[in-house]
Amino acid sequence: MAHQQLANRLNNSGYKNWLKAGQCLLVLAGGIAPYIEHEIRSFHEYVLNQNTQLQRRCHSGCSSKGKLSFLCPLCSEWSKVILRYHRQPNVSTVNWDNCSPALWSQDHWELAKAYMPKGAYKKSALHQCDASALLNLLNFCNWFSVDPQLVREVICCRNELMHSSEMCMDEGWMKRYHGALLRLLRHLHHQVVPLDEAVQQIEEVDSVSQSDTMALSVSQLEAELLGERLRELLQDTETQDAECLLRLREFLQANTDLRERFSEELQQEQFRPQEAAAMSS
Ligand SMILES: [Zn+2]
Repeated sequence: MAHQQLANRLNNSGYKNWLKAGQCLLVLAGGIAPYIEHEIRSFHEYVLNQNTQLQRRCHSGCSSKGKLSFLCPLCSEWSKVILRYHRQPNVSTVNWDNCSPALWSQDHWELAKAYMPKGAYKKSALHQCDASALLNLLNFCNWFSVDPQLVREVICCRNELMHSSEMCMDEGWMKRYHGALLRLLRHLHHQVVPLDEAVQQIEEVDSVSQSDTMALSVSQLEAELLGERLRELLQDTETQDAECLLRLREFLQANTDLRERFSEELQQEQFRPQEAAAMSS
């Protein structure tokens, strides 16, 4: 029954493309992860060796939840280093709220999180970071010797994908997206990254079939992507798109397998935009 519903959804080629495009993001994240881990460790070590003062531990329990001006001299120095290695070092692009400054001297991921999008506070290891987090890190941190334009092309596609209210991508968009992905992977390939496998997987993603053996993994992929989209929509309360929320809610409600899987989320107050709008009017 659940497989039948999934098969019905996959009959919509736009929705199938949406899933395939999401699969590519997972392949990309897996492909660049070892490179990113290696580089961030090297970056952290380099910073510590350049300025041994930064090796000291913060004993003030600094938090970035307040203003940066409340940081102790040590953490304040760290924040200056972060800005020095930032490609767009202004207030709006640095998400200090992601960081626990008191850990900057000990944990290379606390350093990495300063270059990630909002909401990375709880991510304390590489495997918890999605493609968006890794791509933004590549884009904003100039320790990475990459062409940021190639990274931004993929980020742009990723945002179009995850913010598409219809969750349908046409063939023209898919072509542009594949081009952007492959350009980035081939570019990174020159940074001595073993990305052959990722490039091959992305080229093969088009062969995602509807066979029974694939159904389970497609279903897991679908749940992962819908979950990511949902988290993103619910998280950004300032720019919350009521229309998108409503459409996603209707989509989940209309498919019993998805309605069951996301039953908890569907109960959340923020995820009932109609009622919220009615209450506020
Ligand atoms: Zn401190």
